Amino acid sequence: MTTGYTHEIDKCVAEINRLTAAGADVVRVAVPERKDTEALKEIIPQVRVPIVADVHFHFKRALEAVEAGVHKIRLNPGNIQDRDQVIEVIKACKAAQGGKGIPIRIGVNEGSIIERRDKQKRLKELGAFFHDNKRGYLLAIMITKLEEYLDIFYEQDFHDIVISAKSMDVPTVVDAYTEISKRFDHPLHLGVTHAGPKETGCIRSVVALGTLIANGIGDTIRISYASDSKYEVEDGLEMLYSLGARERKGAELIACPTCGRIQVDLVSLVQDVRTKVSTQIELPIKLAVMGCIVNGPGEAEGADVAVFAGDRKGIIYVQGEKVANVPEEEILSRLLEECLKFQDKVKRGEARLGEKKVEIIPPDPIGELGSGWEKAAHDHKGKGVSLTVGGA
Ligand code: SF4
Repeated sequence: MTTGYTHEIDKCVAEINRLTAAGADVVRVAVPERKDTEALKEIIPQVRVPIVADVHFHFKRALEAVEAGVHKIRLNPGNIQDRDQVIEVIKACKAAQGGKGIPIRIGVNEGSIIERRDKQKRLKELGAFFHDNKRGYLLAIMITKLEEYLDIFYEQDFHDIVISAKSMDVPTVVDAYTEISKRFDHPLHLGVTHAGPKETGCIRSVVALGTLIANGIGDTIRISYASDSKYEVEDGLEMLYSLGARERKGAELIACPTCGRIQVDLVSLVQDVRTKVSTQIELPIKLAVMGCIVNGPGEAEGADVAVFAGDRKGIIYVQGEKVANVPEEEILSRLLEECLKFQDKVKRGEARLGEKKVEIIPPDPIGELGSGWEKAAHDHKGKGVSLTVGGA
């Protein structure tokens, strides 16, 4: 979802295009005011992805957004409740896009479902909400409100519906979507709402959405952070790639966590590889950055391109074959060069991804990498210094 004002047309177009470039397939925008729905008429022709209008409180914003050519409407049953108004939106969506129609997402999110206007009803619902079985109550009210709302759509013979049931609580998200997937035959849009900043929101979102997707539940996702929206797209994609739910585009970076054996600045190297090398690779090349030879070869054996660092140097392998031994300051540029060379070979049909030609033979720790205890033992041999030399 965009974070800027929709009526600031140029900025909104730029943000949508930035999210599209990052990998977003669908982008939602807020339309709180008439000037936002008016702006959609100019925004939609300038972007390459379907646009969803996020509508709250004012059903007329939905009608205006449909008129402007939006591709989907999100309605909130918590604040657009008037039956006649909902029917007007349904009719407009049915007739949209020259009669092809557009879908409506019904978002029975945690923050949307507790009554807001009727004070007595609100107190009753809130009272139950804070009773001992909060999650059970929340689930029950989500399902009840969803059923009531859906009845209006079914009566109008409208079935192009997407459902979301977001919460900030991971078990609630998992339970709600699991229950809804059993009861309703509509696509589900998954999300953890108000998940927090990227650093913590990432964990919360991936645990909830990953569990659901691994169980075959969910059709679209949104990761929500109080951070730059491009991270939502990047992290969402990485989650889908990791689950095998989507074919990877670009390099897959593998890196060791580092430990006391490290003899290069591996953390900086990994960051540089992520931002300066991975981003220049289009194919799903598996790229490993390993801190030493102890576990490096084993951990990187499945990699297409790998570097094992040693004493301020690195040995680079391409599909198990050693191609370079370079000083630390040249690792990044040589790694990029080798990755691009390998990518060209794959494109020309001279190599295949994931095909290891040669077993990785660990480099000689003394001669080639000069790292670790072995080197120390070697250097001090016969000099009267006692050293205990241990294997990895
Ligand atoms: S590859 Fe080497 S440096 Fe990295 S964590 Fe494993 S043992 Fe430590």
